[in-house]
Amino acid sequence: MIRLLSVSKAYPRTGLAVDDVSLHVARGEFVFLTGPSGSGKSTLLKLVFMEERPTEGEVRVSGVNSASLKRGDVAQLRRKLGVVFQDFRLLDDRTVHANVAFALEVTGAASAAIPAKVNRLLTQVGLASKGPAFPRELSGGEQQRVAIARALVNDPFVLIADEPTGNLDDRATRGVFQLLREINAAGTAVVMATHNLELIRRSDYRVLEMLHGQLVADTADPTVALQAAARRAERDAAARNGERAASADRAGDSGGAHAADRSPTPV
Ligand code: ADP
Repeated sequence: MIRLLSVSKAYPRTGLAVDDVSLHVARGEFVFLTGPSGSGKSTLLKLVFMEERPTEGEVRVSGVNSASLKRGDVAQLRRKLGVVFQDFRLLDDRTVHANVAFALEVTGAASAAIPAKVNRLLTQVGLASKGPAFPRELSGGEQQRVAIARALVNDPFVLIADEPTGNLDDRATRGVFQLLREINAAGTAVVMATHNLELIRRSDYRVLEMLHGQLVADTADPTVALQAAARRAERDAAARNGERAASADRAGDSGGAHAADRSPTPV
């Protein structure tokens, strides 16, 4: 369903954000994506919903392949997956009902069917009575529920959630997480980036952990941690060799004037 094959993403000014990641998410799974800030979680999710393209490797999502994208592929993919963000991204000048309806309109849904579908979705996320309200009149947790309702308009096979509880207090966090669990129990896969270790501990879902752009742990595949440790050891050894070569270079330099300019000698 979602497959990453040796995927790397380098940004022009900041360098490698995702470093040689391979993974598979099956239909209907719930997967946590965790790791410190800056470890590459958002970039990984953007590669999955194809807002970013890999610099190396391939991303395959529901029959769409990043290496051979055809016209219209990304638009078609976006109709099959839902995305929610930490900052909700609702339209502030439209009611809750209109926010969800708008997402249906842009996908060309029959206009007669829209109000009933919006009401069904708002009921599903626990906001049946909030349709006429504007986003600023809702709590953070309620706003995130509207964003989730909007993400569900096309019955996606996967819901991608980037720190969906990052702006919420504990109670709202628990409520939104429970909603995501219910959505998953009804058959939609969920990939959720989070810093919240408490949520991770309280459930037994698969956990992917990132560090410096690399996937360093995957509870469904213990070999990932071993491979990551081997990669780190290899890099540390290469760095030590580089340092040794550089200091040998400095020691052997009689003039010294340009020693700092030279690259370490490969060993
Ligand atoms: P996380 O979601 O784990 O906090 P990100 O994927 O946002 O990590 O960031 C990983 C790295 O990629 C960071 O070093 C960040 O500066 C860089 N990065 C993220 N987005 C961009 C961008 N649009 N342009 C350039 N660099 C970026």
